[in-house]
Amino acid sequence: MSSNPDRRKKAKRLRSVQGTLDVLGAASGKTTASRSCNGCTACCVAMGVAELDKQPFSACRFAEDGQGCGCYETRPESCRNYQCIWVQGALPDAFWPKLSGVVMDMGRPRSGTFREDDLPLTLREVRDGALDAAPMKAFIEKVKRKRVVILFTKDSRRLLGPPEKLRALETD
Ligand code: SF4
Ligand code: SF4
Repeated sequence: MSSNPDRRKKAKRLRSVQGTLDVLGAASGKTTASRSCNGCTACCVAMGVAELDKQPFSACRFAEDGQGCGCYETRPESCRNYQCIWVQGALPDAFWPKLSGVVMDMGRPRSGTFREDDLPLTLREVRDGALDAAPMKAFIEKVKRKRVVILFTKDSRRLLGPPEKLRALETD
């Protein structure tokens, strides 16, 4: 169970991304307080799980397609801590990762200095070409005007964003 400071931090991040999306008009669909994964296992592919020696962009032995996690009650801490922003209600329904092929979070990256209220938006592509789908490209285009966006595919990492923010990262 997460502590109150952890919860406050998560709530602040969610407010931050929600605020950004609202400002940009990117979240034009209905948003909710929280959602159910409903059989999606996209983050289970995208994320590395040190406790299981699972590399990013690989299948987890516990993932059950269409069902979810086969060891949900005892899943590792890394899995419990992952904060997918779709499931938190910050994106339109159509961005459900199982459908869109892209998982998004606003976790703190391992490198780079970011303010807590200006963390980058990280997108991980779990289906080839999903980042190039028209609605996803349009969404990225809008967000990157204000915020650093990190795009991961299974074999690449790209940073986009306002030039001054990218320059600041280079000198970190
Ligand atoms: S990517 Fe999001 S919606 Fe899909 S399983 Fe992970 S937390 Fe749930
Ligand atoms: S242990 Fe469960 S939650 Fe964690 S990556 Fe595997 S299937 Fe997903």
